[in-house]
Amino acid sequence: MAPIMGGLKNLYNIRDWWFDRIVSYLMFGEWKVVIKNFKESKSKREKALLGMTDPDTNTILLDLKYGTPRILVHEMGHVIFGDLLDEEARNKPRNLLKGLRGSKKFERWSELRILEWEKCFAESLSAEQRKILQFFIDEAMIEYEKGR
Ligand SMILES: [Zn+2]
Repeated sequence: MAPIMGGLKNLYNIRDWWFDRIVSYLMFGEWKVVIKNFKESKSKREKALLGMTDPDTNTILLDLKYGTPRILVHEMGHVIFGDLLDEEARNKPRNLLKGLRGSKKFERWSELRILEWEKCFAESLSAEQRKILQFFIDEAMIEYEKGR
């Protein structure tokens, strides 16, 4: 039993390390959260989104209705792992990307990895950590209401 407990503790240390990284990105303004009503987007693709990362303006857009801490975790995954995943996807043998549809194979492959990150990381967060992420969303919501 002991090795399992030790392993979990180590995993929680990694979680806390990444969590602190995310919070410092948001706290010191390297990245900002902005609320967007994706339903009102002009593009059909965007209408279906719950979140989006814009590396040109270092903005994470979260949906007005469905922009939860979990979606924020997903988008932060793009921030943290974006370049790394892009490089990895492009260096993968073609046959490993074969099952993926469309011309945007690399993006799709990266998106699947980010979904794995989201599931693992978001579900490992403590209630306190979730609350902290919700705080950034609430702050963005106040700005959104002001701008209406
Ligand atoms: Zn994504």
